Amino acid sequence: MKRLVLTFDDGPDVKYTGRLLDLLKKEGIKATFFVVAKNAAACPELIQRMKKEGHCIAFHSLEHRHAYLCSYRYMKHDFSKSMELLQNMNCPVKFYRPPWGARNIFTKRFVNQYHLHMILWDVMAEDWKVGNTPEIIAGKIEKRIFDGAVICLHDGCEKYGGAKGAPNQTIEALKLVLPKLKREGYQFITVEEYLKNA
Ligand SMILES: [Zn+2]
Repeated sequence: MKRLVLTFDDGPDVKYTGRLLDLLKKEGIKATFFVVAKNAAACPELIQRMKKEGHCIAFHSLEHRHAYLCSYRYMKHDFSKSMELLQNMNCPVKFYRPPWGARNIFTKRFVNQYHLHMILWDVMAEDWKVGNTPEIIAGKIEKRIFDGAVICLHDGCEKYGGAKGAPNQTIEALKLVLPKLKREGYQFITVEEYLKNA
């Protein structure tokens, strides 16, 4: 069985995440959402829906600051405040992906302190970029995947330097590519399932 791990960073975003969840539901696919804790706290209903529909919720910082610009004091706050916000939503997390994949000398310490696993990605489809149409994004996904690949996409990147409306392109790209990948025999699993079977 060929497997893929679909992950979405930067959300939830009220403009896009609901529609993405509709599509995943229609396709019967479970994904992993690396949420920005402040965004999650602002949309608790989307977090509850993700949980109810069997997706894995993971953590992508408190407010998406770049690690190179963060002091020890800020990093401590980033992790502790995020854990508090997510736990208050009854949503403990086990997996962490730093914004832009960037780490500083304190990252590992907090990852360990909160018993998190750091998860980066294998395939990036540049779905945040200006000018990337659904066809281009779908093409990049198809070309770059392999059995077991972790794919990084975005459902809330507009606020963090992504193109305006970029998640619309992501959703349309997935409409093109998901049925195709299913026909090719790919099964979609969450990060949690992936690590369990690793
Ligand atoms: Zn991000």
